[in-house]
Amino acid sequence: MNYQLSEEERMLQKTAEDFANKSLAAVAVESNERGEFQEDIYKQLGELGFLGMTLPEKYGGVDFGNFCLALSIEQISRVCASTAVAISVHNSLVNWVILNFGSDEIREKYLPMLASGETLGAYALTESNAGSDIGSIQTSAVRKGDNYILNGSKLFVSTGDKAGVVIVFARTDPENRNQGLAAFIVEPDFPGFSIGKVEKKMGLKASSTVELVFEDCVVPVANLLAEEGKGMEIALGGLDGGRIGIASQALGISQAALDEAIRFARERKQFGTRIIDFQSTRWKIADMVTKLEASRLLVYAAAKSRDRGEVTTKLTSMAKLFSTRAANEIVNDSLQIHGGVGYTSEFLIERLYRDVRALEIYEGTSEIQKMVISREIIKEYDRIFPE
Ligand SMILES: Cc1cc2nc3c(=O)[nH]c(=O)nc-3n(C[C@H](O)[C@H](O)[C@H](O)COP(=O)(O)OP(=O)(O)OC[C@H]3O[C@@H](n4cnc5c(N)ncnc54)[C@H](O)[C@@H]3O)c2cc1C
Repeated sequence: MNYQLSEEERMLQKTAEDFANKSLAAVAVESNERGEFQEDIYKQLGELGFLGMTLPEKYGGVDFGNFCLALSIEQISRVCASTAVAISVHNSLVNWVILNFGSDEIREKYLPMLASGETLGAYALTESNAGSDIGSIQTSAVRKGDNYILNGSKLFVSTGDKAGVVIVFARTDPENRNQGLAAFIVEPDFPGFSIGKVEKKMGLKASSTVELVFEDCVVPVANLLAEEGKGMEIALGGLDGGRIGIASQALGISQAALDEAIRFARERKQFGTRIIDFQSTRWKIADMVTKLEASRLLVYAAAKSRDRGEVTTKLTSMAKLFSTRAANEIVNDSLQIHGGVGYTSEFLIERLYRDVRALEIYEGTSEIQKMVISREIIKEYDRIFPE
């Protein structure tokens, strides 16, 4: 399909595609097999501008916007979904919340190092009793003079052991569930910060996912984003953009699964016939490509809407819900087309099958997206057709 990309968008997409096909492809198989995080890849991504995609130039960013970020995550994800999730968290969550809620001093301190790739960002929201329900966050932040003292732990933090900048959500008011949260920037060398359990995941093995522990962790008051009580707003605002990033990750995985299915089906013969000539294979391919293009339309529309400064909550959730479900189905069909070899690590589809499963879980499960979409559409009806 022709998405009518501008010259700048086409160039950016081509740069991401070339980087993915050359530099990233050279290390992706091994780093996913060994479960190794490729620090060097992020340095290169920083040099190419992919870690400051939506940041203004005065902070070292390239300021290309959310649509270009979506195009680049899609290309990276075709080759390594682990790298794509780290880029998404870094740009859409960490850079975005600092740009939108940090003081001038905080922006000047942290954004240039994030944009250049000198350091990576992580977003620490989830806790053992606060997953979908972030209003249940228990990590506490108590003001003491010029510092806040944080106690508690965060789970499943992507890149949490590699990041130099971690956005941590904590409770400043135990009496006020949703309005009692605040967001802080924490550096790993702040006293009282440590890395806990490292998760052994089924996929996304080249992305690290860890527990972070805060034991009387000392965080300067200057590192509070916005003000106490704004944590929920900051967390949800970040996720509005983050979900476009995960939806873009789904596009890349889907494209890779489709490419692999067609390549394999043209080569493999059974009953004296290429399996691509069986109607059952062709129907699967028709379904796969239709789901992929429908996903692209939604994801690109959400990214462009965010670039126009519109409220994207419903559209973002629709894009994430649809594209991540579609990606799971497309990958499943591609593996089916591969037959037995698709179940072995000899073929890329085996990794895609493990990687894609997380997409319907993180940054809001599919069930949570449905809650958001239905809430937003009912609000619209209530406004237009009051009872
Ligand atoms: C690979 C990976 C990376 C991650 N990276 C990060 C990260 O960087 N930072 C971070 O903070 N977190 C991260 N997470 C955590 C992730 O965001 C959570 O796992 C997710 O939000 C779901 O929370 P939960 O696991 O506690 O599940 P729960 O919230 O316990 O949900 C369990 C099930 O119940 C359903 N459910 C819950 N509430 C409702 C409801 N009201 N109505 C209907 N169904 C409901 C859910 O949809 C789900 O199916 C990551 C997770 C994974 C797997």
